[in-house]
Amino acid sequence: AYQHVQKPPWLQVRPAGDHFSYSSYERLRTTLRGLNLHTVCEEAKCPNIGECWGGGTATIMLMGDTCTRGCRFCHIKTSRTPPPLDVNEPAHVSDAIAQWGLHYVVLTSVDRDDLPDGGARHFAETVLALKRKQPELLVETLTPDFGGDLDGVRQVVASGVDVFAHNVETVQRLQRVVRDRRAGYAQSLRVLEHAKRGCGREYDLLTKSSVMLGVGEHRAEIHQTMQDLLDAGVEVLTLGQYLRPTKRHLKVEEWVHPEEFEEWRREGERMGFLYVASGPLVRSSYRAGEFYIQSMLR
Ligand code: SF4
Ligand code: SF4
Repeated sequence: AYQHVQKPPWLQVRPAGDHFSYSSYERLRTTLRGLNLHTVCEEAKCPNIGECWGGGTATIMLMGDTCTRGCRFCHIKTSRTPPPLDVNEPAHVSDAIAQWGLHYVVLTSVDRDDLPDGGARHFAETVLALKRKQPELLVETLTPDFGGDLDGVRQVVASGVDVFAHNVETVQRLQRVVRDRRAGYAQSLRVLEHAKRGCGREYDLLTKSSVMLGVGEHRAEIHQTMQDLLDAGVEVLTLGQYLRPTKRHLKVEEWVHPEEFEEWRREGERMGFLYVASGPLVRSSYRAGEFYIQSMLR
């Protein structure tokens, strides 16, 4: 990957084997090949793969590899007319996950503004299929904003998902710089608030959002974003360093020091989040299964 400046030492990739047993990772990789599943973990070459997979968490990509949007931080390819949905995907994913033996699965997707419901029903069907096959499996959906369509949000929540995640990505002022123009701060907050308070599952659904640091935000703006998320009923927050995928993408404005991430973690918990994962390499789904358990114990 292209680096426009030298990464600071805390972002140099850790040696494999540091955080997990290589043999269990290899076993999972071999299983995956046979299942024909696309994990974000592998495709994004996520540095947390050992910790996540070792802890029984993985992130699966639904609805193809082509997005109708083009956010400036994201490496996914873009087209106005992606291929049609694979109607067998919910069944296929649930079969594969059942064989894999995960405890916690994160379902995410590209944005599909070409579909009338943005793919909400497809998400819901996949959750339902997973829960039918493996009722004890914990499922998190990391969804698009469905173009602000709150019926789509309701369908996903009604599927019985355990955690509803949607990422606000950055502070209000930088939304236009960072995200596709069809996304927006207020719209994302509305989606999160509706999931938490508008769908009748206030007491048994966790909501979660993620913010990238290092794109030019100020500290006061980070604080405001955290407060806005709390006000929208969001309970779990993740904060991570933005890394530029290629030189055509948005540049990194700042390498946020690990100690500052730690301060934000403490500040977030003081403000009232049930759980905050904050660190340079933290991603939305980082060790999500373990954090789910810890959030529920609070
Ligand atoms: Fe990437 Fe999501 Fe933006 Fe699509 S909507 S370009 S997948 S961040
Ligand atoms: Fe996979 Fe997300 Fe963990 Fe990375 S952080 S390994 S993408 S589950």
